[in-house]
Amino acid sequence: MDRPNVLKKLGKASISATDIASQFWCELQMQDNYIYGKRYTKEMFKGRQVHEALQKEAYIPLIIEPVTYADTMYKTAYENVMSLKSLKTKKLCREFRIYGSVNGYRISGVIDEMRIQDGKVVVIENKTRESPKPVNPESTRPHIVQVMLYRKMIGDIKAKRYTFENLDAAYGIRRAKLSEQFERELNALGIKDGLRTAEELYRVMFSEIESLPELSDNLELHYLDRYSGSQIANIGVKYEDNLINQDLVYAMKYWNGERNAEPVPEKEKWKCNFCKFFGKECTVWWQQ
Ligand code: SF4
Repeated sequence: MDRPNVLKKLGKASISATDIASQFWCELQMQDNYIYGKRYTKEMFKGRQVHEALQKEAYIPLIIEPVTYADTMYKTAYENVMSLKSLKTKKLCREFRIYGSVNGYRISGVIDEMRIQDGKVVVIENKTRESPKPVNPESTRPHIVQVMLYRKMIGDIKAKRYTFENLDAAYGIRRAKLSEQFERELNALGIKDGLRTAEELYRVMFSEIESLPELSDNLELHYLDRYSGSQIANIGVKYEDNLINQDLVYAMKYWNGERNAEPVPEKEKWKCNFCKFFGKECTVWWQQ
């Protein structure tokens, strides 16, 4: 029997690191979010503001509006290259767009923060929550998967397991031609030759990553107050290749169409009380 095309069913072209992390909260909820549409809540908006405030501390946006796909890819590469320079000089960068591949699927995500500490690059994921709620193990599980996945993806680039050629094959970087309007604005900004195409910039990005200091196996989860941005808790996570690989084997069975999306197990059905689909689109644990 043919396997279902899960990406098509969810209207997606690639998998995000957040999708994979969400599978470790409730996979069915992750799927329903695509099928029934995300309903953005006040809390999510507030969390976004804290992220944006953090981003402004260490981020150099390219102030040109992209017109085409190629412009967007260029802008991302430019901002990533600036972030890597910031990491090398100021020992800190934020909101780094990372690309990779798992089982032949395109995976991308945004690394919240990287720092150089004790000569090594530390990957950090910032999560906002309502203070003073304690951080319990079930809620950290998806965040651990996410931060480990980022560490794996950056490690894949650094070790040349994921190269410019892989990115080009997945995203058509070499073919991507900037719009005339975008090129004019790059001229006006005085962007130098050698940094004027998406290909040139992505090649710089790959070589900058390859020349980063060693990646630390000590990853960090920072929990921040959703309203003030102040820190609630810091959790250290030890990176282990075999653990993230096991989680990815489980996660990819869903994307491969080898199994259906799973609801939470009975002992975690308390999560349903926080789920917008509970008793509506999802009645797995709903008792009349
Ligand atoms: S109601 Fe529960 S099982 Fe169903 S999607 Fe939501 S969290 Fe998952």
